[in-house]
Amino acid sequence: MSELLTPRRREALRLDLEDQQKMLIEEVYRLSQGLIHGAVAPPVGFGEGLLESGSPKLSEGRLVAERREGLEGLDGKVRRLREISLALARIGRADFGHCECCGEVIPFRDLARDATRRSCRGGCGRA
Ligand SMILES: [Zn+2]
Repeated sequence: MSELLTPRRREALRLDLEDQQKMLIEEVYRLSQGLIHGAVAPPVGFGEGLLESGSPKLSEGRLVAERREGLEGLDGKVRRLREISLALARIGRADFGHCECCGEVIPFRDLARDATRRSCRGGCGRA
């Protein structure tokens, strides 16, 4: 298989990026909604039964952990969304698919795996 980025392949990468972008936007929306609604304080008296059973921290700790997990997930997805948006902005340009470090052509199989890739496998950037 040739490693050249033909117009057809470029278009396929663009469609794939747009799909990923759409899905991520939905996930980010869903996650942020969960965080917003999860952040509402429980009503007074909530958890009194837990106090009696002697394990009030258990549920509290789990909520904190879930919230932290949600925030980290959101952070990663927002970062990824940004990479995808930048790749979509670059994809029509002549230098798309070239290593930003050494200028070499990035093999198409690498772009097909991750179209947001900006460097080759050589001494440039991530392995
Ligand atoms: Zn390079």
